[in-house]
Amino acid sequence: MKDERIIPISLPTPFAIGDVNIYLIKGEALTLIDAGPKTEKAAAVLKNKLAEHGLTLDDIDQVVLTHHHADHAGLLDECPGAAVVGHPFNEAYISQSPAFIEKQQSFFTYLFKQFGVPDTMGSLSLTVKRSYRFSCKRSLTKTVTEGSTIDGLEGWRVLETPGHASSHIALFHEKSGSMLGGDLLLKPSSSNPLLETPQKEEERSAPLLDYLASIKRLLELPLSVVYPGHGENITAIQELIARRLEKQRSRADEVYRMLSEKPHTAFEICRKLFPAVYEKELFLTMSETVGQLDDLQSRGLIASGEADGIFYYHIKRVEK
Ligand SMILES: [Zn+2]
Repeated sequence: MKDERIIPISLPTPFAIGDVNIYLIKGEALTLIDAGPKTEKAAAVLKNKLAEHGLTLDDIDQVVLTHHHADHAGLLDECPGAAVVGHPFNEAYISQSPAFIEKQQSFFTYLFKQFGVPDTMGSLSLTVKRSYRFSCKRSLTKTVTEGSTIDGLEGWRVLETPGHASSHIALFHEKSGSMLGGDLLLKPSSSNPLLETPQKEEERSAPLLDYLASIKRLLELPLSVVYPGHGENITAIQELIARRLEKQRSRADEVYRMLSEKPHTAFEICRKLFPAVYEKELFLTMSETVGQLDDLQSRGLIASGEADGIFYYHIKRVEK
């Protein structure tokens, strides 16, 4: 299925995920959905692709961000004249607010201590810094939230779809059943729900629970195609969601089995779940692990207790 109004542009990224898809939409305004990572290579490809349509970066009226990650937002720096539209939670990231970066470092240091991550693993400030490496220094000119419409982009409505990022939105075109999905649902791999520093509340969010709610929402919509942030268009949407949910359940079951043997910290579980990669990808694998613990806890199957500032998770025994 092809929608003539939506022109996909694939840009290279320096990340493991590979190319990112951004979309050019010629409506009343000239809109880009996402911008790509801030690399010379991506900028060159974008300029070339626009030239094929007789356009330059200066012609772009607005960039709508599906979320704040560098592979989607970085090239905003190449479109200084364009309005920047996105969820309010993008702002701290896309502006690289020094106060927020400091807050991230202290928040994760505190959080990872609770999760039982030994100090020797503390490369957190590096991880935080690295996440900004291919990003931009811009500011939102317009914020959108659940139900918002966007000027110049007729027929599209904003859905808040947090989980992969707290700033994540999808754009839904009800008439055609199309969705600009960002990283909400991807064919090549599951989207990682990532731990984030809270922006509004004091407590951390539960990104996997948010993510599960976000993809379950899609099951209720009359969707025929999702234009994703990575990989091919998705038309077998229900099947893919079912597959993602099933995989998540079986991983949660695996964590439950570990906890049936004895209480664990989140870090101990993480090491067992991802023995080959947890050191290199501590942030990603810890986010995934904590997600499964949040899921089990939300279903009343496990609980946690604290000793010396460290959380230990244990199963809830069924009362006889
Ligand atoms: Zn992302």
